[in-house]
Amino acid sequence: MNLKKTMTITLSLLVFSLIAILTFLLQPSGHVQQFKAWMYPPDIKTASRAGSSSDQLTVRFFGVSTLLFDDGKDQLLIDGFFTRPSLSQTLFRPVQSDPELIQHMIKDYDLKRLSAVLISHSHYDHALDIAELGTQLPVRIVGSESTLNIARGAQIAENQLVLIQPLHAMQFGDFHVTALPSQHTPPTAVNNDLGEVISHPLQQPARFSAFKEGHSFDYLIEHKGKKILVKASTGIMPDQLKHIKVDTLFLGIAQLSRQSPDYQQHYLEQTIAMLKPKVVIPVHWDNFWEALPLKQPLEFLPYVADNTSKSMQTLIDFTEKQHAKAVILTQPVAYPVQ
Ligand SMILES: [Zn+2]
Repeated sequence: MNLKKTMTITLSLLVFSLIAILTFLLQPSGHVQQFKAWMYPPDIKTASRAGSSSDQLTVRFFGVSTLLFDDGKDQLLIDGFFTRPSLSQTLFRPVQSDPELIQHMIKDYDLKRLSAVLISHSHYDHALDIAELGTQLPVRIVGSESTLNIARGAQIAENQLVLIQPLHAMQFGDFHVTALPSQHTPPTAVNNDLGEVISHPLQQPARFSAFKEGHSFDYLIEHKGKKILVKASTGIMPDQLKHIKVDTLFLGIAQLSRQSPDYQQHYLEQTIAMLKPKVVIPVHWDNFWEALPLKQPLEFLPYVADNTSKSMQTLIDFTEKQHAKAVILTQPVAYPVQ
């Protein structure tokens, strides 16, 4: 065989292997139906009827950690990410909110009753749509200086912007909300900006990497005797939650499977074991490069980002050992908060 032929074969094999690896990495890391026993609602066909409006406190999950709390009177939104740009858009082009989509969300979910949007941190998959929400609604936007600079990029009025004051309770109707300083998921190669800030108004479209983390926060929500904690990221500040007990915990599990066994154990001990919730609802596990309307049900992250089946199973096992109940919300239907 001559050298040229050998090189051609080697190169072809290399290209073929690369394509095979890439195809594998972009596959969903399992299917949520594997966890049917924990899904709410269990039957996708009942989803449209599930949770019609009532004066009970409900929550709708829109993927990542965008959660809409509603007591029939007022609404609170944790994080604001509805426009879900595709992976190729995110990697190769600037991202921006879709005003028409936000208009539809406002109509479909009656967001005129929205009192506030509270942001866990300023990465685009948590905060991309806050400027557009603030443009279309007279809603208050609560977040770090970086988060407020995302809103300022769309000239949102300063009286709509509320700078987070850690550990100070804010009141919105019957909701009392306290921001707790927190820790982001450990950095990755494309997500290595922890502690960096957005120091000027950020106009869209902008590269996803311009949405700097700007510090992370958890939100403790108290509503008529019920206590809820929303932790968007897979990170903790040691003993930060020591003296808090909650009924429902929304717990970020992105990249949990990629951490060491010690990290996983410590994370779950410092959250589920410490807060002693009755119900644990995982968040930040869905493939957020899939656009709205959300797939029914949401799909797991591809292998390139996490092994979601493993992260989910780790969370369920730990939760059940603590005699709590794990509930997986897979689409934006109203779930009655326990
Ligand atoms: Zn983040």
